[in-house]
Amino acid sequence: QGEKYKAEIIGSIPDKEAIGLYGQGDWEDLCRGPHVPSTGKLRAFKLMKVAGAYWRGDSRNEMLQRIYGTAWTSDKDLKDYLHRLEEAEKRDHRKIGRELDLFHMQEEAPGAVFWHPKGWQIFQRLIAYMRDAQERAGFQEVNAPEIMDATLWQQSGHLEKFGENMFMTRTPDDRLYAIKPMNCPGHVQIFKQGIRSYRDLPLRFAEFGKVHRYEPSGALHGLMRVRAFTQDDAHLFITPDQITEESVKVTRLILDIYKDFGFEDVQIKFSDRPAKRVGDDAVWDQAEAALKAAATAAGIEYGLNPGEGAFYGPKLEFVLRDAIGRDWQCGTLQVDLNLPGRLGAHYIDEASQKQAPVMLHRAIFGSLERFFAILLEHHAGRLPVWLAPTQAVVMGITDRQAGYVNGVVEGLKNQGFRVAADLRNEKVGFKIREHTLQRVPYLVVAGDKEVAANQISVRSRNGKDLGTMSLETFAERLRIERDSRGRTALED
Ligand SMILES: [Zn+2]
Repeated sequence: QGEKYKAEIIGSIPDKEAIGLYGQGDWEDLCRGPHVPSTGKLRAFKLMKVAGAYWRGDSRNEMLQRIYGTAWTSDKDLKDYLHRLEEAEKRDHRKIGRELDLFHMQEEAPGAVFWHPKGWQIFQRLIAYMRDAQERAGFQEVNAPEIMDATLWQQSGHLEKFGENMFMTRTPDDRLYAIKPMNCPGHVQIFKQGIRSYRDLPLRFAEFGKVHRYEPSGALHGLMRVRAFTQDDAHLFITPDQITEESVKVTRLILDIYKDFGFEDVQIKFSDRPAKRVGDDAVWDQAEAALKAAATAAGIEYGLNPGEGAFYGPKLEFVLRDAIGRDWQCGTLQVDLNLPGRLGAHYIDEASQKQAPVMLHRAIFGSLERFFAILLEHHAGRLPVWLAPTQAVVMGITDRQAGYVNGVVEGLKNQGFRVAADLRNEKVGFKIREHTLQRVPYLVVAGDKEVAANQISVRSRNGKDLGTMSLETFAERLRIERDSRGRTALED
């Protein structure tokens, strides 16, 4: 029938495989399916784009037209979907990162980030926040080498299971090293120094560990999918009796921390034993029950991912929902009954016997680079005051107010705020527009009237005029907003 492309597809399907045919009314065609029972179900549709595409993705083949469309059961669903797409594009962290001069990436370092001053400042603030939260939760920060002998990775099983994603290097003395793709084996080495007693447990080691993983270049995407990233990684060395309690504590910590970043809608997914696994079923029973108890204690319903656990143990995954309804898996908590033993870690139990500790692997941000991107997109670049690189810009209307403006900036800086003066010879409207585009939370203006009354006039980056107030009032309310991490905003 002259359908040479379809004939080619049919020819390429192996003999034993079924060929799918789907129909709509009296029209039938090749399709893997499934189809809706009738096009009447799709009340709302829109053609999205038309693009040229080479047959089978090969530029030596003919160019065909590919037509993209989307169909929904109602106009409202279609509208919501289109709105989400539009919002996602506006919020793209690569675009915001450029506009706010936060970071860049370039071809010589695929999947690695060049952090600019403002971006790095925010990045370091994320670390400082996590460092403080972890310390209060009983974690101790450690730091392990980024390059270690390949034999260690052989022993841990990473070389075998993960070798394709590892960067390796051979040195002039002919030793083979791996750049770490994970922090676990390093933490086990620290645990193994000296004799550990059951009385020392739990031991909670945390590291802002820079890891490298080779990803195919086609998979890379801004800060979301990179080759070099920083994990807020921790490993808890515990006795089997401590699995439940420690898992509950970690789960609560994770949920608390997400709230500080404005993520209230968090889902937990529970992945249990896979077909290919190590360890006795009795131990798996215990580990799974402990993680379920942790999810329940956190007061959150969890979904099941049957058989999706790691080969060494079950895991919880924490999924954030952002401002435009997208889900991001960030945190994980895994119970590991395998790796410590493999790497020769042990402690002396109450009966003076050597035992391998249980290890909990835990990450909260997951990858800091990726979390940074999620934050930028969630807030559309309008980072909360406590994270914003500049919290307020102060400007005069004419040169006459320069002295007053400098005094206001000085006063706020002395109280620990990140504030800048804008004394350029430009119209105040122009300056306000520019700082609004830079997403500076508060724009402070002083004209002759404000100077005479010893006040300032304040507006927000959302365009809200907050009126005139004394410097003390502004500082006090800014402090409340900063310290409540945006839960009480000056603007409200
Ligand atoms: Zn780990």
